[in-house]
Amino acid sequence: MKLPGLGFTPWVSGRPSREVQEVPVPPLLRVRLLRKGIQYTPLLKSGQSVGVGEPLAHAVVDGGTIALPSPVPGRVLDANPENSYLSLEADSDGSAAGVFEPLKSQYATPDQTRNILARGGMWPAFWSSATRGMPVIDGSEIPKTVIVNFVIAEPFHARGRVVLTHSWENMIEGIRFLPRLMDDYGKVEVIVTAVRDPVALKMYRELSGFAWVRIHPVPLRYPVEDPRILLKALRKNGSIPGSDTVVWAIDAQGIVQLGDLLSKGSPPARRLVTLGGPGAKDPKHYSVCIGTPLKEFAVTAAPPEKQAVLNSGLLKGEPVDLTEAAVQYDDDGYFFLPEVVNRQVISFLRPGFNRTSAFPAFAGPAIHHADSHITVSLRGEVRPCISCGMCEKVCPVRIMPQVIHRYIYRDMPEEAVKAGLEICIDCNLCTFVCPSKIELQRQFVEAREQIITERLEAVSEA
Ligand code: SF4
Ligand code: SF4
Repeated sequence: MKLPGLGFTPWVSGRPSREVQEVPVPPLLRVRLLRKGIQYTPLLKSGQSVGVGEPLAHAVVDGGTIALPSPVPGRVLDANPENSYLSLEADSDGSAAGVFEPLKSQYATPDQTRNILARGGMWPAFWSSATRGMPVIDGSEIPKTVIVNFVIAEPFHARGRVVLTHSWENMIEGIRFLPRLMDDYGKVEVIVTAVRDPVALKMYRELSGFAWVRIHPVPLRYPVEDPRILLKALRKNGSIPGSDTVVWAIDAQGIVQLGDLLSKGSPPARRLVTLGGPGAKDPKHYSVCIGTPLKEFAVTAAPPEKQAVLNSGLLKGEPVDLTEAAVQYDDDGYFFLPEVVNRQVISFLRPGFNRTSAFPAFAGPAIHHADSHITVSLRGEVRPCISCGMCEKVCPVRIMPQVIHRYIYRDMPEEAVKAGLEICIDCNLCTFVCPSKIELQRQFVEAREQIITERLEAVSEA
């Protein structure tokens, strides 16, 4: 399947091997009360015991209530709703099978399926084209299509192939349940890397009996994992008719955990995460209990005092404090960037190359020079736009970031919108390749926020 725009995959060192190291459950877990932008309220008081799968916290959302299920049995130590984390003393890593009522995919009703997904912490694994976020849970939103994506191009997340090697049966079970959530004649569109990939071939063989499943190979090019990019490509090749069809998307770990929850009654307890990037000593995958502090397993992989760490990949990752952060329900990778001693500016979101500031300081990979020296160093001054066109060359939604930048700089927000400001999917590629080190994506986010504020003010004054 052809992707709509150009996109681009940075070539950086530190790719995790396929080896998976099991990390034992630590005595103390930290569960974040903010998940995918939704704030959860603790349901337990400090000192109370909790069983595996029982709700630690919940959130009231459009159409119902969703829960954060406990990954292990244990005791709550700190459940102050003012805090961003809930601390949990873990008893053991016992089996979670049968915690929820196991369902049979051919008999489960949509209500039963949605109910268990909400209580079992898996509803937020879906993205919806109708809400541009989590789908509405009360059954009023029925997708015609569900995209199941096994391809992640951003360096470096848990690889779909590694996830599937460990959980093939759960993945198949997960796919079997999707018709329970879809429209009667709905389709599941499965995204894989390439036809000759052994996992893709196995997928073709095993899913060929499911008349409602179609498989699409795509080039491994960031940001293929963005559901908006996949949706556009599927609409363009005719797989999804109409522009207003409701489409949901879910990724590899999501479909595997969904299958485990619905077919065996096991709530999500572990995540497969990578430690990768140029700063990781031994880049590989780890199977980790949700809530495990990073310092339990990551500090041996990379000394914290010499590293900047991004939660998620290089391009969309947010900086985290290695001594404070813990693995959460949706995490699937940590990217390690070495700090350099003689750095001029530290900027986590503006990764540069460990070389002096001469064109193409940042654009090396875009013109096919591998870079193995990526660090947090900015190395050199931020300069005005030199109209090189690199940002436009890589933009996956085919807008001209340099033009939008100029409109924002001249305080012309309406012109910026006309040039595609609201089409931008925040992939960060333009910022990454810009040799003048202009933080284009951050400017676009701020400009959109300002436009929304002004529109709301205009409505309230009217
Ligand atoms: S952040 Fe927006 S403008 Fe920049 S490359 Fe991505 S989609 Fe294009
Ligand atoms: S914004 Fe940066 S990448 Fe884009 S044209 Fe200007 S200098 Fe080149």
